[in-house]
Amino acid sequence: MTDNAIQGKVVVITGASSGIGKATAIHLGRLGARLSLGARRMDRLQAIRQEIDMSGGQVLITQTDVTQRAEVQRLIDKTIESYGRIDVLVNNAGVMPLSRIDKLQFDEWDHMIDTNIKGVLYAIGAVVPQMKTQKSGHVINIASLAGHRVPVNNGSAVYSATKFAVRAISEGFRQEVKPYRIRTTIISPGAIQTELPDTVTDPDIKKSMQGLLDQAISPDSVARAIAYAISQPEAYDINEILIRPNGQVN
Ligand code: NDP
Repeated sequence: MTDNAIQGKVVVITGASSGIGKATAIHLGRLGARLSLGARRMDRLQAIRQEIDMSGGQVLITQTDVTQRAEVQRLIDKTIESYGRIDVLVNNAGVMPLSRIDKLQFDEWDHMIDTNIKGVLYAIGAVVPQMKTQKSGHVINIASLAGHRVPVNNGSAVYSATKFAVRAISEGFRQEVKPYRIRTTIISPGAIQTELPDTVTDPDIKKSMQGLLDQAISPDSVARAIAYAISQPEAYDINEILIRPNGQVN
C-alpha cells in the first residue's frame, strides 16, 4: 500500500497553525487528503489554506480552542457537514510551559492539563459517535518522548504527566473501540523544530533546553510518520511510533 491510500481521506488536525500540525496539513494535503484544520490563530490557518489551495487540496478551517468543549464539537460538526465523514483525527494541539513544581506555576499547570489532556479527550469524544457509525476511523494522538520518561532537570513533571496521560487514554481507547474497527496511533516525538519552546516562561529552563534544541529535526519527520500510519491497509493498526533526532540520547 502506498501513500495514495491517503487520497480523499477526511483528516481533522487540531493545532494546525504551526509546527507539527502545519507540516502534517501540508504533507497530507499534497497527498490528496480532504482537510479540516483547527487552531486559535485564524490568520495562520488562512495562510496555510492558501498554500494548500495552490497545490489543489481541499481545506476547511475553523477557529478552535481545544480547551473549550463546544468549540471542539463545532470543529467536528462542521467537518461532518462539509465532508460527510471523518476518517482521521490528529490530536496535535499542545503546550509545554516547563517549570519545576516548586516554582508553583499553578496557572501553567492548569493550561497544560486543559490543553494537552482535556483537549485530546474533547476531540476524541466529538469524533467517536461518527466513527462508531462508520465502523471505521483513526485517532492519532501526539504524545512525546516525555510521555515515556520524565527528563532529568528540565521541569517536565507536569508536561510529562500530560503526555503519560495521552498514552494511557490512547491505549484504553484502542481497547474499547476495537469492535468498531477504529485504529489508534500514539506518536511520540523527541526534539522537533517548532514554536513549542516559546511556551516556556521559566528563564532557567529555557537556558537548559538549548543543547537539545540545537539537535531538533524538521516537523516533516512527524508528518511523514503520520502519513505512514494512515496509509497502512485497514487491517493494520500501527499503535505507537517514537521519533527522535539521531543525536538525541534521552
Ligand atoms: P507548536 O507550538 O509549533 O504548535 C502547537 C500548536 O498547538 C499550534 O498550532 C497552536 O495553535 C496549537 N494550540 C496550542 N494551544 C491550543 C489550544 N488551546 N487550542 C487549539 N490549538 C492550540 O508546537 P509543536 O508543533 O511542537 O506541537 C505539536 C504537538 O507536538 C504538541 O502536542 C506537543 O506537545 C507535541 N510535541 C512536540 C515536540 C517538539 O519537540 N516540538 C516533542 C514532543 C511532542 P494556536 O496557538 O494557533 O491555537
